[in-house]
Amino acid sequence: MIRISFYDTKPYDRQSFLEENQGYGYDIMFHEERLNEKTACFAKGSQVVCAFVNDNLSQEVLEQLIRLDIKLIAMRCAGFNNVDLAYAKGKIPIVRVPAYSPYAVAEHALGMLMTLNRKLHKAYIRTRDFNFSLDGLTGMDLHGKTVGVIGTGKIGQCFISICKGFGMEVLAYDPYPREDLGYHYVPFDYLLERSHVISLHCPLSKENYHLIDETAIEKMKSGVYLINTSRGALVDSVALLEGLLSKQIKGACLDVYEEEGGMFYEDNSHHIIQDEILSRFLTLPNVLITSHQAFLTQEALEGIASTTLKNIYAYMEENQLENQVQEEEK
Ligand code: NAD
Repeated sequence: MIRISFYDTKPYDRQSFLEENQGYGYDIMFHEERLNEKTACFAKGSQVVCAFVNDNLSQEVLEQLIRLDIKLIAMRCAGFNNVDLAYAKGKIPIVRVPAYSPYAVAEHALGMLMTLNRKLHKAYIRTRDFNFSLDGLTGMDLHGKTVGVIGTGKIGQCFISICKGFGMEVLAYDPYPREDLGYHYVPFDYLLERSHVISLHCPLSKENYHLIDETAIEKMKSGVYLINTSRGALVDSVALLEGLLSKQIKGACLDVYEEEGGMFYEDNSHHIIQDEILSRFLTLPNVLITSHQAFLTQEALEGIASTTLKNIYAYMEENQLENQVQEEEK
């Protein structure tokens, strides 16, 4: 029987995989630990490794997995910036889940914006304490405001539809514009200069590491809201903090953070947090942080489990590579 070692698992993703596996009958080993140099050995006796966004698939880890005779790495996520694809090439195939519920992420992004803009996070706490004062809770209408969307793939398109429903003007930037969608594509700098809200919906690559840096922030409209539900390292956190402190940026909605590995998905409430930037962000009332949660809907979990097990079946039973990730895609 084919054994699959799952890393970085939590009760919510175990449930969807156990249900989906009823149609396959694979021997599933769930590991709570994230995949890294120390935990790669847990995959001994498995043929497939299933990894997630904060697992480490560096050359050293891949070497170990190949020595353990792992035949396939099935990412149960869309992003693959944590995989050394150059090393994997020709040695071990990597597959992923290119789409599950783009609505989940787009809706979360808009939810974060609504929360921060209309101060719902403050209002929730106030009314629990019978404080019904409205002081300091003034927001802005989104209707008529300009939103700049960076990346017009599956999630970006959903996000744009929602923003259009709010009556927002949409500017789009993508190095591979989809002219058939009828979006108003503009140069990157123009988008920065004109948008009241900027939302990132592109994958992280070597080319766009710290796409939002000090220079980009300087070009933004004063009082802009920044939303990042894509990957943390698209944003230079130090520059973002400076932008928030100088009030150039009115608010930041962060579902991802460049140093999230080891922190997000875990209960760190009893720990002395060493990350000064994250700690500082969390002191600011105009920063909303969620723990890489944007994907987390029932529909998305079912979609992830379904595609991941299909990908595994296709390769292990039919020698077909479905949804393979290769170096040139990065
Ligand atoms: P997609 O592949 O459908 O679309 C990505 C788009 O980004 C493409 O149109 C591509 O041309 C564009 N792009 C590439 N480089 C760019 C750049 N430098 N600037 C602007 N655009 C660029 O991907 P998707 O399904 O829409 O997902 C987007 C990203 O969302 C993923 O790569 C992943 O990092 C992130 N994501 C986050 C979560 C979460 O839970 N927070 C869940 C799923 C995906």
